[in-house]
Amino acid sequence: MDYQPKNNLLEGRIILVTGATDGIGREAALTYARHGAEVLLLGRNSEKLSQVAAEVATITRKPGKTFVLDMNSATPATCQTLAASIAAEVPRLDGLLHNAGVLGDIAPMSEIKPHVWREVMQVNVDATFWLTQALLPLLLKSAAGSLVFTTSSVGRTGRAGWGSYAVSKFATEGMMQVLADEYKDRHLRVNCINPGGTRTKMRASAFPQEDANKLKTPADLMPLYLYLMGDDSRNENGVSFDAQPGRKPGAAE
Ligand code: NDP
Repeated sequence: MDYQPKNNLLEGRIILVTGATDGIGREAALTYARHGAEVLLLGRNSEKLSQVAAEVATITRKPGKTFVLDMNSATPATCQTLAASIAAEVPRLDGLLHNAGVLGDIAPMSEIKPHVWREVMQVNVDATFWLTQALLPLLLKSAAGSLVFTTSSVGRTGRAGWGSYAVSKFATEGMMQVLADEYKDRHLRVNCINPGGTRTKMRASAFPQEDANKLKTPADLMPLYLYLMGDDSRNENGVSFDAQPGRKPGAAE
């Protein structure tokens, strides 16, 4: 995306990033901090969270606040408890980036194991939805909140072998569309980002033979991640954006 954000684009904004411990989420959290935001980091691994919080501190001089939640065992009740502990720390949320996700196995539908299907749905759909429900009151306290989900090209057109992950991303697109319609007259916008093939550990597990050097890095995608959190996107709602428009889905050639 050809977008030139101002250095202080996110000054005064409070943004929560899920899956902030690695890959795209870690890069987004650091990028938001560099553009002036107070970032809240959510992950399942407290050691990795502390490392990212320390990196945030080198940018903002105060560490990012961290919140531990294993989305694979999260329930509506634990998400409400987490939202209450977030509300005890910050007055509102101006942005929520739902980035955490799992791939499951690349396998034909006929061979998907029940526990793999369950984990992918639990993390990518159920826990993402319960977190959204629990955090909506804090988002609605913002004068211009931005709720961003993370989709995939296989969440728009199914592809053989991508079973549970593809179905979970179709659900993500649906969740975004319904919420965007429900809040269209309020000061909350709801959109999706499809990162496109990006150099992360998830991508490497999906395409182990691929030359990762041919892929964009998380840092390359950040203009769109910034755009959707800043004021320039105030009128965007219900849109599924591509961070790499025109990229052909599948392995890098
Ligand atoms: P990574 O595997 O690099 O990072 C995933 C993040 O999600 C990590 O922080 C991970 O935590 C966290 N996470 C995983 N499971 C849980 C859980 N049970 N509870 C809490 N956090 C969890 O993935 P990417 O950065 O590649 O992917 C980020 C998003 O982008 C995902 O939604 C993915 O589906 C999507 N995407 C990625 C593409 C790509 O090519 N990379 C393409 C299209 C979409 P931990 O550090 O502990 O593992």
